[in-house]
Amino acid sequence: MGKIPVFQTPDLDRAESRMRPGKDHPHAYLGTDQRKLVEILTGDHGAVLNLGLSHGAIADRLDALAREAAAGMGEPVVVDERFEMRVETARGKLPCPFGHPGLYRKTRIELRRLDTGETLAWTDLAAHLIRAHGFYQGTGSPFRLDPKDVARILDL
Ligand SMILES: [Zn+2]
Repeated sequence: MGKIPVFQTPDLDRAESRMRPGKDHPHAYLGTDQRKLVEILTGDHGAVLNLGLSHGAIADRLDALAREAAAGMGEPVVVDERFEMRVETARGKLPCPFGHPGLYRKTRIELRRLDTGETLAWTDLAAHLIRAHGFYQGTGSPFRLDPKDVARILDL
């Protein structure tokens, strides 16, 4: 670890401004979350540590599930006998809001637990944001992956 900053740096200011909804940035990474980006990061970092997990472990599981679900070629598939999953390919790519070079596919991965009916949905970029930045998106964002929910639904 040690990658999670304690203070809001100029880099984080720039990332945060890219995440707030705007004309050129309709993607609501932060939802209705009014906290500074650094507060969102430190809050979720603490939550992940309390769960006994790491950002890498969570992202690894999301990526592994996405790879298995891709075998369905857009049709629902049952993965690990527990999850009904579907991968929806979308046109276009998205940049990382933290300013990494490169673009991420908009592929949407949907998961539903067969026993509880709970659902999760994420994209390749969302898994990258967790792995590289410990960022689970803001409270109130439709794309937020709350670490507690992810851990419970995926049995991590
Ligand atoms: Zn990035």
